[in-house]
Amino acid sequence: MAIQQQINKSIHGIGASPGIITGRAFLLERFKVRLPQKRINPSQVDEEVERFHRALKESRNQLREIKEKILDPEVRQHTFILDVHLMILDDEMLIQNTEEHVRKRKVNAEWALDLTLEKLDSAFKAIEDEYLRERRSDLHYVSSRVFRNLMGRKHDDITKIKGKVIVVAHDLSPADTLQMNLNHIAGFITDIGGKVSHTAILARSLGIPAVVGLEVATSLINGGDPLIIDGESGEVVINPTEEISESFMERRRLVKLQEREVMKYASLPAETRDGVRIHLQANIEMVEEISSAKSHGAEGIGLYRTEILYLNRKNLPNEEEHYQTYRKLVENISPGVATIRTLDIGGDKFLDGYSKGNETNPAMGLRAIRFSIKETDIFKTQLRGILRASVHGKLRVLFPMISGIEEIRKAKAILEEVKKEFIRAKVPFDRGIKIGAMIEIPSASVTADLLAREVDFFSIGTNDLIQYALAVDRINEHVSYLYEPLHPAILRIVRSVVQSARNAGIPLAICGEMASEPAYVLVLLGLGLEEFSMNPIAIPKVKKVLRMAKAIETRSMAERLFQFSTASEIKRHVRRWMVERFSEDYVKSIAEELKT
Ligand code: PEP
Ligand code: MG
Repeated sequence: MAIQQQINKSIHGIGASPGIITGRAFLLERFKVRLPQKRINPSQVDEEVERFHRALKESRNQLREIKEKILDPEVRQHTFILDVHLMILDDEMLIQNTEEHVRKRKVNAEWALDLTLEKLDSAFKAIEDEYLRERRSDLHYVSSRVFRNLMGRKHDDITKIKGKVIVVAHDLSPADTLQMNLNHIAGFITDIGGKVSHTAILARSLGIPAVVGLEVATSLINGGDPLIIDGESGEVVINPTEEISESFMERRRLVKLQEREVMKYASLPAETRDGVRIHLQANIEMVEEISSAKSHGAEGIGLYRTEILYLNRKNLPNEEEHYQTYRKLVENISPGVATIRTLDIGGDKFLDGYSKGNETNPAMGLRAIRFSIKETDIFKTQLRGILRASVHGKLRVLFPMISGIEEIRKAKAILEEVKKEFIRAKVPFDRGIKIGAMIEIPSASVTADLLAREVDFFSIGTNDLIQYALAVDRINEHVSYLYEPLHPAILRIVRSVVQSARNAGIPLAICGEMASEPAYVLVLLGLGLEEFSMNPIAIPKVKKVLRMAKAIETRSMAERLFQFSTASEIKRHVRRWMVERFSEDYVKSIAEELKT
């Protein structure tokens, strides 16, 4: 029952990382696919049971083949896991239950197996023994193979990719993305996810075009299908005709030209027409991105996300590794500042052996600073690395997900302990190292006046702030229409944080994705922000718009926005304001997000 081939079929998702590319689809086997659920006639029951058995047999053969091919003795030691998988395929309960569902409920084999898995899943969850409980993942791994065989899908083996492919997956975590050989990945598309999910952010920093939240990609696309993806508009065309391919290529040429034109701004000062100097910095995840940050015109690093140091490994980074990484960072960006954010694990990024992703509500769970305060040893190891690197240039520490005064005090107290340890051991560090708090939880924004007494600077993280203030999951495509940076609530929150920072006389930056959209930047400038940190590739276009604007005018524009009661009215006003000053074409090309 191979899925029907789609010709020139266009589907729409959320543009997550810009770029227009063509390539063949690579369906990632180990990720979930959407299952066809069908009711069957009594006369079809035997054939359906037979189909299920054929899929089991095929799966067994494939696993045996994989096992035989492993010759390396080191790797062979671990093939017991394949034996476990083979045993699962022979499991009486799995087979009988599925057959029973087909016979009694009259459903197709995919649906029947899914029902069996649901039942086994709850049985696994109730097991006390952690090792056995974890075998759940083996069960799912094996079943995904059976599902694919049922659905007649080819098994793509990522290690065998030749040339470049477009990865098609139900979901990808940042850890999954990093595990891929990026030299072979031209782009990726997923069924789920939002524009500010960490996978999307990572794709942007790696410069890989991506579309997320397509919902139906894995159910419509077959491995090997030619695809076109437009990471800006979110359009994906399956098996495009030559004519459609040509029109996309034409668009690509145009975009490339625009990119080249805007790059001219990278080396110009970020200064408004009325002489207000703005500080533009880069958000990066890897030290290797520093050269891109500099070539795009960043003055410093406003956000270094340290999670990647911890992902895809069994052990944790040690102090030396932290130190060497941060030292490289701070030396390479010198004389600019390097803002190192301490571990922000949880939410949609998990650490092997710690946050396993089994929290009911991970976005509100044990993540970021909460995790660090609980796992003091892990936290202190990172802080030691940061402090040691602080003698090599201008370095600041930023604590993520601060929800109130007690949390920041606890984090600071732990930092103080490490400092005292260093003083005793005569380890040099910057005694005046600046400490900042991310303002990304509504409680922090409301108490920013109090928090400002505890830290040297603030950085507003709009990705999470919007998520929590509007109660909109940043990685859920079904509610992405509610994820509205120009919501009246967000503008009010930003205005009040600006006021608190000003009253306390501490610097305030913004490092959420909102800072990378020129139209939003004008609004934020009008609200009083003068320090923006963003994905390096966004810096030139932001510089361009800043150099075209007058700060004084953005202030009165922003003031006006508080008279409107909906995001649509606000967007309309901002758009009109921009069109009055810049050309209609220019506004159209940079302000997609102002569409109402
Ligand atoms: C944010 O929340 O806005 C932010 C910059 O941090 P992250 O995207 O890593 O959560
Ligand atoms: Mg955040």
